[in-house]
Amino acid sequence: MTIKSEKTRVLVLGGNFAGLGAAQKIRDLAGDAVDITVIDRKAYLDYIPNIPLEIFEGRDPAVTMHMPLVEALAKDDIRFQQAEVLGVDVDARRVTIRPSERPGAPNYDIGYDKLVIALGARLAYDEIEGFEQFGHTVSDAWHANRLIDYLEHDYNGGPIAVGSARFAQGKRGRPDWLPTALAACEGPPVEVSLALAHWLGEHDKGSAENITIFTPGAMIAEDAGEKVVTQLLTAASEMGFTYLNKTEDIARLTRDTIEFADGRSIEAEVKIVFPNWKPHEFLRGLPISDEEGFIVTGMDMRNPDYPDVFACGDAAAITVPKLGAIGHQEAEVVGRQIARDVGRMSADEANVPWQPEVVCIGDMGGGKAFYIHANSWFGGDVQELQMGHLPYAEKLAYKELFFRNHGRVPGWGLPVAQWSAENIAV
Ligand SMILES: Cc1cc2nc3c(=O)[nH]c(=O)nc-3n(C[C@H](O)[C@H](O)[C@H](O)COP(=O)(O)OP(=O)(O)OC[C@H]3O[C@@H](n4cnc5c(N)ncnc54)[C@H](O)[C@@H]3O)c2cc1C
Repeated sequence: MTIKSEKTRVLVLGGNFAGLGAAQKIRDLAGDAVDITVIDRKAYLDYIPNIPLEIFEGRDPAVTMHMPLVEALAKDDIRFQQAEVLGVDVDARRVTIRPSERPGAPNYDIGYDKLVIALGARLAYDEIEGFEQFGHTVSDAWHANRLIDYLEHDYNGGPIAVGSARFAQGKRGRPDWLPTALAACEGPPVEVSLALAHWLGEHDKGSAENITIFTPGAMIAEDAGEKVVTQLLTAASEMGFTYLNKTEDIARLTRDTIEFADGRSIEAEVKIVFPNWKPHEFLRGLPISDEEGFIVTGMDMRNPDYPDVFACGDAAAITVPKLGAIGHQEAEVVGRQIARDVGRMSADEANVPWQPEVVCIGDMGGGKAFYIHANSWFGGDVQELQMGHLPYAEKLAYKELFFRNHGRVPGWGLPVAQWSAENIAV
């Protein structure tokens, strides 16, 4: 199948945070010089960061966290195709897809001039032994609802373990300044532990003392910086949490325990885990991928060997930790580079250097949240932590703004959130 156009054909694979953000930025900056098509297997954006907050506040994230995607794209004259992406051939400039609205469709090949890979990652729960019978998680509405059902109806008040499996980060093409992360994204286990402790208290089912937080790394949420994590851990230990580091990996889950790769094992009635973020299998072995299957790019989000191929969000090798906020920053870089390629932006303007930043607001229950803003992971000196009602209000407001503006968070959205969280104590 060929998209016929005189204009530069931009194909964006994936329509969640990175894909939608990139498509909108490309439209903003490259204007009518491009035809843009977004392909995703589902026709909505899944607002993943607020799923834990929604379940602990008694709302079904399938109802509240799915934003219609097709309408959002149509506002910017961006075409949407609901299809499964099956393969990418960067030499032939072709992507193989299968329409996914109804089963039974054949495969089609679709050509492109510029390709943006924003397919996220595969959350490999199926590689954790015992997860299906004994594991829980919160990274999608289905699993989040399964967890809350268990806590409400079956929980016997036993110990709870919350933490991550080992993340396998690639090395090929990795810049020297990017450290090795042992977990892909550790804001969520911290957030879930804090919010769950509050939920247990509210429901007379326990407290922080029921919960062990574990990490494969030397320090949980390393990317937030030592100063921030020390403050967080001090607060957590005063609340009664147990903390276990250097577990290396999750070896297996059993009915009553969680076993770690370092040989330790702890009692746990409930095991809330975050897996290895693995690239999609069809991306592994491509000339644009590292040895794990993440897409290699420079800071311009462009593959060095195939300069018409871009990546942003969790699918990009450079995105570590795997954070939507970083994907958002990268989407803008992609927009600038493509605008430059089609003559709508000067090289100087397109190449403005950017420094990745960790920005994360995590629910703590009871109308409070923590706010982290840090770039120490990337060699900078920013390490900000705030806790209180204001970050919570920001978390809700940001989601509201995102949905109302169809994913277009106004330029001031993030900076205002940053400024107010760092300067107003409530
Ligand atoms: C519980 C939890 C809480 C989090 N909280 C935060 C937070 O507070 N702040 C933050 O910045 N980040 C947070 N994150 C991380 C954040 O969710 C991810 O970094 C972000 O979703 C990545 O965006 P993405 O668009 O790159 O990938 P994804 O969101 O994974 O989107 C990938 C898209 O590609 C589509 N797709 C994948 N494969 C195919 C295929 N083969 N064919 C067709 N379509 C396909 C998917 O349907 C999806 O729409 C959290 C993550 C979790 C699990």
